[in-house]
Amino acid sequence: MRIVLLGPPGAGKGTQAKELVTKHGIVQLSTGDMLRAAVAAGTPVGLKAKDIMARGDLVPDEIVVAIVSDRIGQPDAKRGFILDGFPRTVPQAAALDRMLAKKGLSLDAVVELKVDPDILVRRIANRVEQMKLRGESLRPDDNPEVLKQRLAAYAAQTAPLVEYYRGQGSLRSIDGMASIEDVASAIGRALADAAFRRVSARKADRGARNSSSGRKRVGRKAVGSKKPAKKVVKRAKAAARRKPSSKASRTKAGRTKSASRRSVRNRQKSNKAVRSPRLTK
Ligand code: AMP
Repeated sequence: MRIVLLGPPGAGKGTQAKELVTKHGIVQLSTGDMLRAAVAAGTPVGLKAKDIMARGDLVPDEIVVAIVSDRIGQPDAKRGFILDGFPRTVPQAAALDRMLAKKGLSLDAVVELKVDPDILVRRIANRVEQMKLRGESLRPDDNPEVLKQRLAAYAAQTAPLVEYYRGQGSLRSIDGMASIEDVASAIGRALADAAFRRVSARKADRGARNSSSGRKRVGRKAVGSKKPAKKVVKRAKAAARRKPSSKASRTKAGRTKSASRRSVRNRQKSNKAVRSPRLTK
């Protein structure tokens, strides 16, 4: 299963992604986590991303696309993944489509968590307070000013993805303001619905392809397919036996001689049947 979780910072994407990991045994790929790890490790990518992230801006597309492309090719992502925080721009989404298509894959669903921006700001402020109380270290971008910038970046660059995925028919929008359990249930229903539609569409597509190729279905196989069904072969052989062969000798009326003899015998029989009552009188 391959899923994209879409939503502004603080919408609960990370929490829901973890639920999905447990439920479906797939990996969570958070570009934010990967970039923070790169910053902490001081890699060239980390050095480039550090200041951009601290400001609440988006890291350039080519950097993030390269990270994701590398990550989804790793063995643990073979069974599927949840992309959390990626794509964040339309070019990133287009790059994701291309990298999946190259592998013969596609997304199963894009889940959008819809949230009220005002409530979101309060939610994040609460989270920050609680982290401080627990003595946990805060992210450099977890402060009101940077949060405003992250929300602005979401509105300007990421929100257009809703239309992008709606156009592809893969978007499922969910009320992200509900409780964690309710949001998780709604995501579960959305994924089941997406799976059902995919199977139905595949069946319809197969049907359309068979009819457009002019193949007529007889038995379980289509006539004209490379290996015809046994039933089809049997019927064809029987028909061939029934057909008068062009080599067979024919009467003047165009019948084969054997057909002509059969018809004479039948006529004699019916004449007898009509005459016999009179004979008994
Ligand atoms: P997140 O943890 O998803 O909120 O991401 C934290 C920060 O990492 C963002 O504010 C961006 O600066 C950067 N980032 C994460 N994912 C992306 C992405 N897909 N494209 C660009 N920048 C990203």
